[in-house]
Amino acid sequence: MRLLVIEDDRDLNRQIVTALEGAGYAVDRAFDGEEGWFLGDTEPYDAIVLDIGLPKRDGVAVLEAWRKAGRDTPVLILTARDRWSDKVQGFDAGADDYVAKPFHMEEVLARLRALLRRAAGHASSELVAGPVRLDARAGRVTVNGAPVKLTSHEYRLLSYLMHHAGRIVSRGEIVEHLYDQDFDRDSNTIEVFVGRLRKKLGVDVIQTARGLGYIVEPDAETTVGNGGGGAKRRSAH
Ligand code: CA
Repeated sequence: MRLLVIEDDRDLNRQIVTALEGAGYAVDRAFDGEEGWFLGDTEPYDAIVLDIGLPKRDGVAVLEAWRKAGRDTPVLILTARDRWSDKVQGFDAGADDYVAKPFHMEEVLARLRALLRRAAGHASSELVAGPVRLDARAGRVTVNGAPVKLTSHEYRLLSYLMHHAGRIVSRGEIVEHLYDQDFDRDSNTIEVFVGRLRKKLGVDVIQTARGLGYIVEPDAETTVGNGGGGAKRRSAH
């Protein structure tokens, strides 16, 4: 999962990015509304953390511009405490959720997990594919109940495939969603990662769709909504 953090307070930006990277996400950052709007408009993020009070272009205007252009990336806005009008304007502009400053980082993480889950059509924070269970809250993977130790890259890869279970995910898409923009992107490395991941899991849950990409078959009872994971949706607020 690849996220974008737009926050002009450099300390806060760094704290959020560090927390998100620690939770296993690839993260890009921006420090003003112009740069943030551009990245959100051109890069395929899985979710965006957007401060409302930004230099150059405020957060509400940035969000409105994305939504007007049809970008439906889940957006979590950061609002100043006591500024209820920020929240109203933010939701009107198409925000999916908000956190008021000052906040506990755990709350940001929890709300992002929920947004990512809902965007992929999952009701539970635990994703299941056959004997493989991925607990997004704890960042833990088990196979037949036994914990499996994965590197952060392997975890990201498995998490992305399981969030989008039932849909073929191309190598190019994996590269775009697993790495931040500073990463040297070579889609050939994906094959290596998939190979290692399969070996560590020891079970056959990641199928190769020859010439197209990879697919994890979903467990029927763990997906909800639009007939399988992966279908993007706009939440109605
Ligand atoms: Ca600010």
